[in-house]
Amino acid sequence: MSIAKLRRGDRLVLATHNAGKLKEFQELFSPFGLELVSAGELGLPEPEETGTTFAENARLKAHAAASAANMLALSDDSGLCVDALNGDPGVYTADWAGVPRDFNVAMQRVEDALQAAGATAPEQRKGSFNATLCLAHPDGRDVIYHGQCFGTLVWPPRGTQGHGYDPMFMPDGYELTFGQMSPEMKHSWAPGQQGLSHRARSFAKFVENQIEQ
Ligand code: IMP
Repeated sequence: MSIAKLRRGDRLVLATHNAGKLKEFQELFSPFGLELVSAGELGLPEPEETGTTFAENARLKAHAAASAANMLALSDDSGLCVDALNGDPGVYTADWAGVPRDFNVAMQRVEDALQAAGATAPEQRKGSFNATLCLAHPDGRDVIYHGQCFGTLVWPPRGTQGHGYDPMFMPDGYELTFGQMSPEMKHSWAPGQQGLSHRARSFAKFVENQIEQ
């Protein structure tokens, strides 16, 4: 089911309560002149993420926001999948940070699991960041876009920029972790380009298909 392309001035709810994701979306959307409001600003409840795939959780969040706000809503469900851990933490990436969220704890947990699996050499520590975007219409229609970025998990964490697991993820082809990159470098995205981060890559597809150029 398709959804008509967005134009300058259109309003969109960003269906996230995650400050790091929200900041990245605001940066990525800046060339397009849309009116963005976050689920947090609207005081929308945060739905439980009961899905077992990124797409299921992205749908849950986008539809919850679209129907509560009666507006188009865009969600992101994302996570880190580590090869040596059979894809964990995957859809449970946020949960590994505990309550309240502490990403130093989360990164240590990934490192402990890698050590327990005997994954000490860089080639044994490969993984990917994944982002699935869902644009939902209050009438129930939705569209999905996926983005992925492959890299290596490093230890100890490096850099103080970004959010979440950024300081331990070094994307393929780079000697810096996401935590050592400026937002511009982490996105490496401009209209018409593919981008570097998983979020920028899913956003590139969203722009190509969903924004009137
Ligand atoms: P969820 O999409 O709300 O389930 O949470 C995704 C989890 O993955 C959060 O814990 C994020 O911190 C983490 N994550 C998603 N994207 C990134 C990223 O770009 N850098 C670092 N961590 C991320």
